[in-house]
Amino acid sequence: MEFLKNVSLAPHTTLKIGGPAEYFCQPTTSNDLLEALQSPFKPKTILGNGSNVLISDHGLPGLVIKNSVFDISFLSSNRLLVSSGTSLPLLISQSMEKGLSGLEEFAYIPGTLGGAIYCNIHGVNKNNFDKFLVSIEVFDLSTLKIQNLPSKDLSWGYDQSEFQSKPGLVILSAILQLSLGNRSQSQNLVKKITDEKSPKQSINSAGSVFKNPPGDSAGRIIDQELKLKGFRIGDAQISKKHANFIVNLDHATAADYLSVIRHIQSETLSKLNLDLVPEIQFLGDFSLPTK
Ligand SMILES: Cc1cc2nc3c(=O)[nH]c(=O)nc-3n(C[C@H](O)[C@H](O)[C@H](O)COP(=O)(O)OP(=O)(O)OC[C@H]3O[C@@H](n4cnc5c(N)ncnc54)[C@H](O)[C@@H]3O)c2cc1C
Repeated sequence: MEFLKNVSLAPHTTLKIGGPAEYFCQPTTSNDLLEALQSPFKPKTILGNGSNVLISDHGLPGLVIKNSVFDISFLSSNRLLVSSGTSLPLLISQSMEKGLSGLEEFAYIPGTLGGAIYCNIHGVNKNNFDKFLVSIEVFDLSTLKIQNLPSKDLSWGYDQSEFQSKPGLVILSAILQLSLGNRSQSQNLVKKITDEKSPKQSINSAGSVFKNPPGDSAGRIIDQELKLKGFRIGDAQISKKHANFIVNLDHATAADYLSVIRHIQSETLSKLNLDLVPEIQFLGDFSLPTK
């Protein structure tokens, strides 16, 4: 596998924002992924589809591993072993093909399995992804060992997983348990969700920027209380279609994007005495002045 130097990370994110990786590789097999994880480059950052990250304009030091290891094995009538770089849309369509149901509510989420577990994504029916996890195989960067973690032994919450406080653990694969379902009902549900979401949720975004406060929606607050839809700094704009999405109109920088986030947070704090907590992950150094 090739380790490339000074590779722009923007094309590896849905936002198309981010400076260069000092070193970069894109493993497509489990062996290549293990080779990258055991390589001497430090630090190491793992990227899935880059659909929930804001990467600093200054890029990332060390090695960035763009995980493209796709694999799905059906272990029994309702259990699947899935590699962490597998795209969620592919996982959903292949499990529906086998008559399995459960993941439909995560339709139109452009991530990988690893990102879904790390972020513990939420679906339209308010289930979190951990509901479907039996166990997770991880590589521990500090011991260089592989471990199998039963999902029930880990702590999970809305958009929260234990992996967020343990950056040394890289998710390699997971066993999922789904229900036996009806293929055409599942396909209709996925179509309905996609039809509802696609006109409102721009792909040139990082998804919802803020977690919903208990009992409310961040999008409603930003739109109806603060009237900030369309607010823009540089090419980073609060989407006119969905106020909890900030889109890259063309050449937005991470600094522009962060300034919009800070503006929303200061408005919610001063006008509503409310702290909006980001859902997206920030990678790299945001304290340096912009070039
Ligand atoms: C249009 C749109 C709609 C979206 N809708 C939703 C939604 O409905 N619900 C929702 O919850 N989210 C949603 N998102 C956000 C996002 O798609 C999900 O969080 C997604 O699961 C992230 O996966 P990813 O592979 O892109 O992760 P990335 O963005 O690449 O990474 C996210 C974080 O996970 C870590 N990570 C990735 N892979 C691994 C691994 N193998 N091991 C350890 N850490 C890893 C990364 O280091 C990073 O910190 C949406 C985003 C977009 C653009």
